[in-house]
Amino acid sequence: MKLTLVQGDITEQAVDAIVNAANSSLLGGGGVDGAIHRKGGPEILAECQALRASRYGDGLPAGEAVATTAGRLPARWVIHTVGPVFSRSEDRSHLLASCYRESLKVADALGAATVAFPAVSTGVYRWPMDDAARISVTTVLRSESNVREARFVLFDFAAYEIFDRVLREIG
Ligand code: ADP
Repeated sequence: MKLTLVQGDITEQAVDAIVNAANSSLLGGGGVDGAIHRKGGPEILAECQALRASRYGDGLPAGEAVATTAGRLPARWVIHTVGPVFSRSEDRSHLLASCYRESLKVADALGAATVAFPAVSTGVYRWPMDDAARISVTTVLRSESNVREARFVLFDFAAYEIFDRVLREIG
């Protein structure tokens, strides 16, 4: 698998699947979630509501992932994953790693060859960027997925620089 980094907006990525840093309600929120629903249109929300009604009555648990259509976005699918809220008193890094592993499993099931990831949990969920970068990059590099390109899409240059440094250290 090729791991690439870009600075930009995940809603503009022409890949097979983009990953959404959703919340467990699957009914939309701020940050990357808000941008995906705003630009992707109501079809994505309708599928999320159907998933709540059928499989996830209590919400999608942290660390899990599920796919919907991508509506009007250039991607074909959106893979919704729920990152853990950062905690200083409890190590939740296994849940953050699980977001990437489970998203790649869903991508494999869809037959997606190119997948774009945001930095899950680093916004409203407050995960420190360098620690998140280390967990995300390590997990994706270790995965045995059939995905050809995993692209990290970092919204601002500071985040891009951190991922770039971590990738040089680990990759
Ligand atoms: P979480 O609740 O998992 O922390 P957020 O959406 O609040 O999710 O933030 C996750 C990361 O996504 C943050 O680093 C934020 O800067 C970034 N982000 C926000 N909007 C976009 C976007 N349109 N494309 C890519 N990344 C984005």
